[in-house]
Amino acid sequence: MQGANDQTQIFCPRCHCYQLHKHGCYSRKGFHAPNHAASNEVRVPRYRCLNPDCPLCTFSVLPPKVLRYCRFFWPCLVSIKLALDSGSTRYHLAHHVRHVSWAIIGRAAALLNSMESWANGLHQEITNGWPACRFELMMKTITAKLGCNELNWRWYRHRYPRRFPDQLGQHTI
Ligand SMILES: [Zn+2]
Repeated sequence: MQGANDQTQIFCPRCHCYQLHKHGCYSRKGFHAPNHAASNEVRVPRYRCLNPDCPLCTFSVLPPKVLRYCRFFWPCLVSIKLALDSGSTRYHLAHHVRHVSWAIIGRAAALLNSMESWANGLHQEITNGWPACRFELMMKTITAKLGCNELNWRWYRHRYPRRFPDQLGQHTI
């Protein structure tokens, strides 16, 4: 989930307004970084939408490679997917590659399955019906078309619809 112009394309995920103010930032820690790398903390900026008609107060913009509620960076998730698809067992990945528990790999696999079926539909939609292809290639195509932030928001709305309801209301995300 990387887009070259993401830093210049930040807009409100609700009303798509580009008029924003920076509104602080917070840190996310505890990522499953490869080999316990030190760089497992990321700073996440928050923004305030300045559109007076927008019900959204503030929102955060995740850096490329970071998903909401997921402790794996995106390249790690893709490599887990490739390994599982090519026959690696969850046990092997957990204990010999990622050094996390079996359950964590199980949850990552479930997340990836759900993301793949969502990506199939989205890929068809944005390419006017091209057939599905390998997961990471579909995600690259989708990212190139939508940009990293929009892709992240669409996934978030799909995955957690109740946290991003369509009806108007005061929500901070
Ligand atoms: Zn807005």
